[in-house]
Amino acid sequence: EDVTTDVVIIGAGGAGLTAAIQAKEDGANVILVEKNAVVGGNTNFATGGLNAAGTKFQKEKGIEDSVELFIEDTMKGGKNLNNPELVNVLAERSSESVDWLTERGADLSDVGRLGGASVNRCHRPTGGAPVGDHLVKVLNKNAKEIGVEIRLETKAIEILHNENKVTGIKVQDAKGNEYVINAKAVVVATGGFGANQDMVVKYDAKLKGFGTTNGPGATGDAVGLLEALKAGFVDMDKIQTHPTVVPGKSKLITEAVRGNGAILVNREAKRFIDELQTRDVVSAAELKQEGATAFLVFDQNVRESLSAIEKYYKLGLLTEAETVKELAEKIGVDAEELENTVNTYNTFVQNNEDKDFARANMKTELNKGPFYAVEVGPAVHHTMGGVTINTEAQVITEAGEVIEGLFAAGEVTGGVHGANRLGGNAVADITTFGRIAGANAAKSAK
Ligand code: ADP
Repeated sequence: EDVTTDVVIIGAGGAGLTAAIQAKEDGANVILVEKNAVVGGNTNFATGGLNAAGTKFQKEKGIEDSVELFIEDTMKGGKNLNNPELVNVLAERSSESVDWLTERGADLSDVGRLGGASVNRCHRPTGGAPVGDHLVKVLNKNAKEIGVEIRLETKAIEILHNENKVTGIKVQDAKGNEYVINAKAVVVATGGFGANQDMVVKYDAKLKGFGTTNGPGATGDAVGLLEALKAGFVDMDKIQTHPTVVPGKSKLITEAVRGNGAILVNREAKRFIDELQTRDVVSAAELKQEGATAFLVFDQNVRESLSAIEKYYKLGLLTEAETVKELAEKIGVDAEELENTVNTYNTFVQNNEDKDFARANMKTELNKGPFYAVEVGPAVHHTMGGVTINTEAQVITEAGEVIEGLFAAGEVTGGVHGANRLGGNAVADITTFGRIAGANAAKSAK
């Protein structure tokens, strides 16, 4: 049955939930539609954290950071293809985003390091626990408490509009019934297209046959939904592979394991890259190794520093051994060579200089047993490209015009991350641009 509201939001991942809460708090009636039976989308699987500069948590820990440095790292990571205006907003409002989430019950007090960051700015729950499912729980709870109406198993199939203004959406429910949700503003927060092999291969043929870390909802529905409105799309061929995914299991090992001290070795038991290089660089380096995979190797100190590792341990993903030699035997690499590699690395840590690969951040010597290894390789992880937006999260047409009442936020948008997204910047993106989209949608519905 047709219904009417102020703001309708498509997709209940991190961006959609954030936008919904903001719009509702700003006085709009909000319906949030989600095609899956559960909320959270790919945000559920976000392991890294939220990048933010100048936060109270950084200050508490004596970490010196700045908006300028955050911008610099993000532009460099994105090979300067990023839209600088969007990156400015991402960085400038990042600290506020941490506060916004904290005020609503999130724990982002642990600050770690991910690839491409000059300082520790990746905010995550105490003990380095995975950020995504924590945030989704917090956001979902907030949304329910303030009266956001969430309709699950409800798929947006069309965005309705007259001339240059949106008027609502057409949806399909679980039984296949179609109806209209009339609204003064629409927020598109449908995520990326990493789970749509055909679309991935269409934009980057090299990724044919790659696995994905994405949940089944990431099918790029926005492309079809926004076509009729002649929305612009950018950087669709910029598709990120994540370098530490367990082959065949599509199970992602968080970058924080490397951030907290793990190394990568190939089948010759040798390191081959600065492990904290950006995801594109590490992925490419792995593909050049025998078998196109590598082993992530770490010790008990690293395990104890990160609660996410307990999960991998319980899932049986880790090979465990009392000594480095025994570990080498278990994973089938040369024992003497692996001992050499680990010893050499430990000397680099002692002297604070990686003479082989110039890794800047070497947290700890790998010297406390048991030792652990897990085989990893690249899999499709994030689609940097997407619909064009401006700094107000308004959708922009191919002709460069604003479509009244239409907003987008999160992975569905392009421009924030350029050619390569830094770990920790997706959660920063969904929170900051989700808030902006929600606030502006509420405003335009008044
Ligand atoms: P982001 O990180 O940008 O929030 P997510 O992947 O976390 O992206 O969330 C996107 C959500 O949008 C997913 O839960 C997905 O199932 C949902 N979604 C995608 N397409 C549609 C659609 N056509 N109708 C309703 N929900 C959709």
